[in-house]
Amino acid sequence: MIEISNLHKSYRMGANSLHVLKGINFNVEEGELVSIMGSSGSGKSTLLNILGMLDEADEGSYHLDGVPIKNLSEKQAAKYRNKFLGFIFQSFNLIGYKSALDNVALPLYYQGMARSERIDRAMSYLEKVGLAQWASHLPNELSGGQKQRVAIARALASDPKVLLADEPTGALDTKTSYEVMDLIQEINDEGRTILVVTHEHDIAQMTKRIVNLKDGLIIEDTLVSQVRALSHV
Ligand code: ADP
Ligand code: MG
Repeated sequence: MIEISNLHKSYRMGANSLHVLKGINFNVEEGELVSIMGSSGSGKSTLLNILGMLDEADEGSYHLDGVPIKNLSEKQAAKYRNKFLGFIFQSFNLIGYKSALDNVALPLYYQGMARSERIDRAMSYLEKVGLAQWASHLPNELSGGQKQRVAIARALASDPKVLLADEPTGALDTKTSYEVMDLIQEINDEGRTILVVTHEHDIAQMTKRIVNLKDGLIIEDTLVSQVRALSHV
């Protein structure tokens, strides 16, 4: 589903430049649930933004579902993002003056779906995340965990091949974080490919594979079942 090879990314800072990704190689198969771990500033969001076509690498190659992602116009990038990707953010990024239902339905509007179908579809995703009875509420009437569930429903509404989540539990307490990760696991169990960026080990342990970033390189790429098996030796 995702193939990246020798990915490099620097940020220019005046006369200097900060080399953040220094040759990243990894593949993600369809149906995987992968966490990208690393301390703050290690380049996790930079990598996820490139995978999400929100930013471009300076060097290296990226294929998404077999499609080479390179030198795309903003219009093409937007088309591929809509077709392939769903995003979940630490800060939820819901629209404050729109109801939970309208937040979930909005991406479908941009896809040109008719209103009645949008509303039906959005409602079914709100049901899926357990929030049907909150459909008409505004984001500020919801708890953090509920807001993130709405955001997850919104990300799923366009039926993306891959979900990209940048610190999805970063603004939540521990119990709510585990509930959100349970939901992410459920969605993965249905076959959806999911990448979760996190700096929290406990959260990474709730995925199936941990990719560890340090100093711009992958220093570890481990299946979680193997980690658990080893810890029992
Ligand atoms: P993480 O998500 O792992 O905390 P980031 O990918 O956000 O790390 O950032 C990696 C490094 O790149 C940090 O040192 C950060 O300050 C820097 N950085 C991130 N975005 C930019 C930018 N747009 N311009 C300049 N530097 C940036
Ligand atoms: Mg980050």
